[in-house]
Amino acid sequence: MDIATKSTITKEQAIALENKYGAHNYHPLPVVLTKGKGVYLWDVDGKKYYDFLSAYSAVNQGHGHPKIVDALKEQAERLALTSRAFYNDKLGEYEKFATEYFSYDKLLPMNTGAEAVETAIKLSRKWAYEKKGIPENQANIIVAKGNFHGRTTTIISFSNDPEARDNFGPYTPGFTKIPYNDLQALEEAVKSNPNTIGFLVEPIQGEAGVMVPDEGYLKGAKEICEKYGCLFIADEVQTGIARTGKLLAVDHENVRPDILILGKALSGGVYPVSAVLADDDIMLTIKPGQHGSTFGGNPIAANVAIAALTVVKEENLAENANKMGKIFREEMQKVVDSSKFVKKVRGKGLLNAVIIDDTEESDTAWNICLKLAENGLLAKPTHGNIIRFAPPLVINEDQMREALDIIRKSIKEYEQENL
Ligand SMILES: *Cc1c(COP(=O)(O)O)cnc(C)c1O
Repeated sequence: MDIATKSTITKEQAIALENKYGAHNYHPLPVVLTKGKGVYLWDVDGKKYYDFLSAYSAVNQGHGHPKIVDALKEQAERLALTSRAFYNDKLGEYEKFATEYFSYDKLLPMNTGAEAVETAIKLSRKWAYEKKGIPENQANIIVAKGNFHGRTTTIISFSNDPEARDNFGPYTPGFTKIPYNDLQALEEAVKSNPNTIGFLVEPIQGEAGVMVPDEGYLKGAKEICEKYGCLFIADEVQTGIARTGKLLAVDHENVRPDILILGKALSGGVYPVSAVLADDDIMLTIKPGQHGSTFGGNPIAANVAIAALTVVKEENLAENANKMGKIFREEMQKVVDSSKFVKKVRGKGLLNAVIIDDTEESDTAWNICLKLAENGLLAKPTHGNIIRFAPPLVINEDQMREALDIIRKSIKEYEQENL
């Protein structure tokens, strides 16, 4: 490691500082990172790792992508923030670029994924009261069990994860939970409540452990929404921007959401940028003064997002995610076939998970992740028995095969030591 990347503090010091002065709302793997480039990360001791989390799919374009970093630097030096009290010369350019890129009339810029989900909820309610004639305060949104849409009080109100929800009440009303990947449950729920205004869903449930629904689920869900005049709202914060082998995960079934929610890789991970996209009929129901954000749509975010989206197309990241994902699942399937311990591999593109034969409350996935880190690959459990593998989409075949060697070796070592 070159001198420029040498850290001034040790691993132990960095961890101690976070423990003593930071809120304890995370439980990170004991690795202290100081540098990233492409698919690699380096820790403070100079050890190199494959990044197989990509900051929960925010870093699809790879760490330190020169085009995206330049866009950030140039705009930071020129003009960072005006607020929306004034126009700036970057936001409109970005809105034109992104709406053409995703084929919607309009974009509403926010910063984080949770904010974009909140925006989609507010937008669909506004539409429902003003266009659909839903009686005041009666609008109801259907969501899927096992969802992860962020951490605000309204969003955790319709989570069914006790960790995310318990002791954070009172909860926001107006949501109905149904099982994921169940079209019959969806139709019954929509039918049974005339005040249903939309279905908010992840095309693949990421945090739940990369739950891939049956083929036809998204198309069927969209058809039900159309039939009953409610909105199909897709949370593509994790699945979008080429992660699953198409620009959007809904593209696998040629479904066009009425409201599209994006975040994470919209900036390539260098800056918090999120967005909600919809057509005029929906988007223009929100009028000046009714929603906003001080940082939403700032010139840095706009410039960075244009660069990040350009990189996705220029480098054919969707196509590469598709190819590399196939290699990953093919090779991991061989591990599943020859191991009593590894039960299943599932996913789409480069959003994949490996399921270990154990309980959700166990610490096997955590311990395997420690072993992976030791051998030079960083991944994180989504449950006690599920590990998500989601490298930056710029990974090439040699890198993928080397990473697979590390995963195979780590699982074998863990098995030998523990079974
Ligand atoms: C990460 C994520 C969010 C929340 O994004 P934040 O930027 O952490 O607020 C929302 N929805 C999905 C599907 C996510 O994966």
